Amino acid sequence: MAALKKKTARIARLLELHLGIPERRTPPPEPLDMLVATILSQNTNDKNSHRAYTELRRRYPTWELVAEARPASLQSAIRTGGMAGQKSANIRETLASIFRRYGKYDLSPLRRKSNGRIIEELTGLKGVGAKTAACVLLFSLGRDVFPVDTHVHRLCTRLGLSAGSTSPERTYAAMKELIPPGKAHSFHTNLIRFGRTVCRSSNPRCGVCPLFAQCRFEGRFERRSDGKAAKKRVHRAPSPADHNFMLLDNV
Ligand code: SF4
Repeated sequence: MAALKKKTARIARLLELHLGIPERRTPPPEPLDMLVATILSQNTNDKNSHRAYTELRRRYPTWELVAEARPASLQSAIRTGGMAGQKSANIRETLASIFRRYGKYDLSPLRRKSNGRIIEELTGLKGVGAKTAACVLLFSLGRDVFPVDTHVHRLCTRLGLSAGSTSPERTYAAMKELIPPGKAHSFHTNLIRFGRTVCRSSNPRCGVCPLFAQCRFEGRFERRSDGKAAKKRVHRAPSPADHNFMLLDNV
C-alpha cells in the first residue's frame, strides 16, 4: 500500500509537470446542474453531452419545467447526448426523488453534510451511481473526492495503480486510499486529459508518453488500426522533444 501511495503521488506530480495544475471552475456548478450534466455525459463524448445539456436548459430553464415536461419532449431536447429514452427517464426519476426528499429541486442542502452522507443520499436516488455522486462532490462541492469513470479506470489499471480491478467501482474503492491529500481534482482532470491525448483507449501513444516508466500495461505490442497485424511497441524513453510535442499538440 505504501509503495502504491508513493507511485500515485509520483504520477500525479508528473502529470502536473506536463499538463499543469487544472483550475477549478468559478463559480462551481450548482450540485443539481452537475448531477444532471453527469447523467447526460454517460456513454457519450463531451461535445454531445454538452450540446444535450445546453439544449435541455434552453428549452427548460428551470428544473421544475424539466420535471413537468412531457417525456417525448424531454427526449427530443437531449437527443444529441444519445440514449435519450433512458437518460430522460433517469432525469425525471432523479428530480422526483429530489423533490420528495428535499421539498424542492435543489441540492444545496448537501453543502452542510459529510462526504459519506452525501454519497449515501445521492446514490439512494434512482439513476445516480457512485461516479455521478463523486462528480458532484468534486466539481460542485469542492470536496477531495476522486471520481472513476471507464477512462480513469483504464488509466489506473494500465499504470498499475489498481491492478486486478475489473470495474470502475472497484477502482474507485482502491483509489480512495491512494490519492494524495488535496490532489483529487488535479489528478482526475489530468488523467482525463492524458487519456484523451496520449494513453488513448486504442493506439496509445507510448512513444511520447511521459509515464512510460510507470506503465504496467501488458500490451507489449501495438495493433495496427486495421486490427489485422501487430507491430512491436516502441520501447524507448521519451525525449524532451516528445514532451514538447505532446504539450503543444493536444493539450
Ligand atoms: S506507456 Fe502507453 S499504455 Fe502506458 S501509460 Fe503511456 S501511453 Fe498508456
